[in-house]
Amino acid sequence: MSRPLLGHLDPDFLSLMDEVRTMLRQAFRTSNETTFAVSGTGSAGMEAALVNLLEPGDVAVVGIAGVFGERMADVARRCGAQVREVRAEWGAPLEPAQVEPLLEGAKVVSFVHAETSTGMRQPVEALSAMARDAGAMVVLDAVTSLAGLPVEVDAWGVDVCYSGTQKCLSVPPGLAPVTFSPRAVEAIAARTTPVQSWYLDVSMLTRYWGSERVYHHTAPISMLFGLHEGLRLVLDEGLETRWARHGRLGAVLSKELDALGFEQFAREGFRLPQLQAVRLPEGRDADALRRALLDRFDIEVGGGLGPLAGNAWRIGLMGESCHEDAVEFLLEAIREVLD
Ligand SMILES: *Cc1c(COP(=O)(O)O)cnc(C)c1O
Repeated sequence: MSRPLLGHLDPDFLSLMDEVRTMLRQAFRTSNETTFAVSGTGSAGMEAALVNLLEPGDVAVVGIAGVFGERMADVARRCGAQVREVRAEWGAPLEPAQVEPLLEGAKVVSFVHAETSTGMRQPVEALSAMARDAGAMVVLDAVTSLAGLPVEVDAWGVDVCYSGTQKCLSVPPGLAPVTFSPRAVEAIAARTTPVQSWYLDVSMLTRYWGSERVYHHTAPISMLFGLHEGLRLVLDEGLETRWARHGRLGAVLSKELDALGFEQFAREGFRLPQLQAVRLPEGRDADALRRALLDRFDIEVGGGLGPLAGNAWRIGLMGESCHEDAVEFLLEAIREVLD
């Protein structure tokens, strides 16, 4: 990212963009032509997915099992959609049987793969198949899952998937990788109203990212250098190896946390290795101990969100921070502050 800048239409920069697109297709496991990076953080990816698919009056079924599901519903409402909410208890996944009765007439079914507020992993395939059978397009939030858990855009029949750079890709925050299926691109072309957001209009953005190279907005050059290198490292390691690393070290961490008296918030069988939301052992002050980890060991863990505020931690083991040494150091530090 400290490389000297290139112009946004410099031939060397354009070939770097093409490489980013190729690597993103590999990371998302898709052959979708419309795969690129939105300028903005993960939330811009969320907004790009929904604002392009939804016209005022369209029906969107939105799964809500935590903070990020809530955000999706908020964004869909701002697009003018009629939002049908499906709620799961925090820590539990959405059940296909809850979604099925709401599918009639729905244009979009949208939900979160890795709910970062609760540490819950949402199984995707059954929900996605059901939504597609009902003629709806599937939007998947893979901000925390991409490159940390299997994400199979094509095999799972996901129409629009978005992510962010600063979670398991281990790149600074600032870009949102997105991918749109041919079906989604057709639906966008068939809109009767213009996309409400000029900045996030996929049809215009693909004229810059595609072969036409029409200026839309100035690309954040240094961020794309960073994403290029982050993706190179991910693919060098190999997606399967990376998923396995997160799985293995996540299991080590959760086993040790159990032994220390922490309680996992997400339901057994639906836990993320890379984000563990845990209640502290009885009588412990979550925020004071979190502060002690930061002051004494320079380790930052997240605080609880929503119902978990004040009595929980959210521990991220994402990408570069998911290494044996980091897990050992964290566990030693936790033992010290508990003592
Ligand atoms: C972090 C996150 C987002 C939002 O990403 P920002 O980069 O903070 O805009 C959206 N969804 C999930 C599941 C996230 O973890």
